[in-house]
Amino acid sequence: MEIAIIAHDGKKAEMVQFLNEQKEVLKNNNISLVSTGTTGMKVEKAGFDVVKFKSGPLGGDAQIAARAVEGKCDMVIFFRDPLEKHPHEPDIFMLMRICDVYDVPLATNPATATMLFESLGRR
Ligand code: PGA
Repeated sequence: MEIAIIAHDGKKAEMVQFLNEQKEVLKNNNISLVSTGTTGMKVEKAGFDVVKFKSGPLGGDAQIAARAVEGKCDMVIFFRDPLEKHPHEPDIFMLMRICDVYDVPLATNPATATMLFESLGRR
């Protein structure tokens, strides 16, 4: 199972914390992580294996959207920072739209992501 993780700068620490809390679920479900560039670097530093794409503003969200279109990405965890402006806002909306087009589970905050992972833990 492939899960894409993306976190805006103000949310990267929360992403690392979320993954630390979900270590068991990640391991038990044989989950491979892919991510946008800078999120991936932070997550790698915290000790997780992750395939990194371009940074979000340079097209990383678009690369993850393409994986969802191709049926390669099974879930997207996207901790957006609603209090910041983002130069790549069109890409962000495009990724969320693609998740809806292809019915890919998408969590945009830790509370929802935790619920999604709880459902994985029950499988
Ligand atoms: P980043 O991109 O992981 O490269 O910071 C995330 C984003 O801004 O969409």
